[in-house]
Amino acid sequence: MKIIIHKGSQEIGGNCVSITESGKTIWLDFGLPLKEGSAIVEVGKLQPKPDAVLLSHVHLDHSGRINELNELDNRIPIYMGRLTHDLIKALCDFNKNYKRPKNPVEYFQGFITFPIGPFQITAWPVDHSAPDAYSFMVEAGGKTIFYSGDLRAHGRKPKTFENLLKNPPAKVDLMFLEGTMFGRSGEKVKTEEELELEMAEIFKNQTNISFVVSSGQNIDRIVTFICACNRARKIPVVGIYGAWVLEQFYRNYPETEVPNLHKFEDLEVFFEPSQKKKLESAKEFFGDFYGLAYEHHAFKKKDYRHYAMLIGASDFYAELVKKCASHEKVNVIFSMWPEYLTKPEHLKKPGFRAISRLKNHPRVQFHKKHTSGHASIPDLEKLVDALKPQKLCPIHTEHALDFTGLFDNVIYVEDGQELEI
Ligand SMILES: [Zn+2]
Ligand SMILES: [Zn+2]
Repeated sequence: MKIIIHKGSQEIGGNCVSITESGKTIWLDFGLPLKEGSAIVEVGKLQPKPDAVLLSHVHLDHSGRINELNELDNRIPIYMGRLTHDLIKALCDFNKNYKRPKNPVEYFQGFITFPIGPFQITAWPVDHSAPDAYSFMVEAGGKTIFYSGDLRAHGRKPKTFENLLKNPPAKVDLMFLEGTMFGRSGEKVKTEEELELEMAEIFKNQTNISFVVSSGQNIDRIVTFICACNRARKIPVVGIYGAWVLEQFYRNYPETEVPNLHKFEDLEVFFEPSQKKKLESAKEFFGDFYGLAYEHHAFKKKDYRHYAMLIGASDFYAELVKKCASHEKVNVIFSMWPEYLTKPEHLKKPGFRAISRLKNHPRVQFHKKHTSGHASIPDLEKLVDALKPQKLCPIHTEHALDFTGLFDNVIYVEDGQELEI
C-alpha cells in the first residue's frame, strides 16, 4: 500500500490520509485545519484522486472539506456513520456558513467489515467528544493499517476503549495514532462523571440561573450537563439546535438513555429568535419535533434559580447572560477547551471574545469545567501496547517528536511525503 498524509502530520486538525492499493485510492478524513494560517493544498492538487472518502467523525477538522470533493468528481462516495451524516445535516440546516455535502453518502456500521475496491474496512466505535466516532482498520495486499481517528478512554463510552485493548486487531503493520495531548501535560484529564459532580455542586448553590457554555455537538457533555441538573434538582434548558441534535441521536438510537424531548419531560427548550425562525419556516421538515419543542418551551416557572441552561459561545448568549445578571449573580461555566478564552487567535472570534469578557462582569461567577475529548498519554501507551504495531506514525499532534521518547518503531512522515508498506 502507498500512503500519503496529505495533512495532519504536524498539527492538530485538517486530517487527511490517502491510501492506495492496486490503482484504487481511499482517503481517511478530509478536514479543515484548526490552526490559524495553516496552508491548505487545493483539492485538485492532492494526488492520487480518491475513489472514496471515509469520515471518522463529524468534527470539522476531519470532515470540513468534503464539499470540495464535488469539484473533483460529484460521484466520489463519502462513507460515514448515519448519525454523523444527520449531525452534518443539522449543522448545515442551522448555520448558513455550512452546506450539505453534494456527493453521495454511504453508511457503515461499527465492526461490520465492508469492501471498497481492494480494501477491506472495519470501523471501530470509539469514545470521543463527538458521538458516532470511529477508528478505521484498513486491510489490503496482505497488510493492515489502523487509523485511530480522535479517541479517548475517559468519556461516557469507556467500554469502547477497553474493548479495543482486550480485542485488538490481530496484526497491525502501520498505526496512525492521534497525539493531541502531547504538550498538554498541564491539562487535567477528568471523567465526564467527575465533571457532572462538579457542575452539580455549582448548580446546588446558585441563587439565580447558571449557564454552561459548550459545543452543541458534544453529546457526552450535554448528558453531563443534564445529569448535573438532575443531581442538583434544576431544570435543564437547551436551545433549539441542542434539542435537534438530541433528536438526531434519538432517531438513530430510539432505545437510548441519552435525554431527548420524547423521553425526558423536564428538559426545556429555549427559542433563540434566529433558530425559531428556522423551526417556523420548515414545520413539516421537523415533524413531531416541532410540536414537542413548543410543549417543552422554557421558563414556564418564572423563578430563574430553578434553571440551568446550555449555551453556545456567541454574542447573543453573552448578552442574555448579562441581562440575567442585571440584578442577581449568575454562574457561567465554560465547558470547552480553556485556550479558546486565552489565545489571541481564538479571541478574534466574536463569540469567544464576548464570553471571555463576561469574566470581568461584577455579577458573573465564572468557572472553567472541561475535560479533553482526547486520550491521555498513559491511555495512548495502553493502546499502543495492545495493538503492537510494526510501525507507529504520529498524527493530529503538535508534538510528533515526543512519540519517540515513549514508543518504539516510530516513523515520521511529513505532509505530502510518500510512504510504502
Ligand atoms: Zn480532531
Ligand atoms: Zn474530534
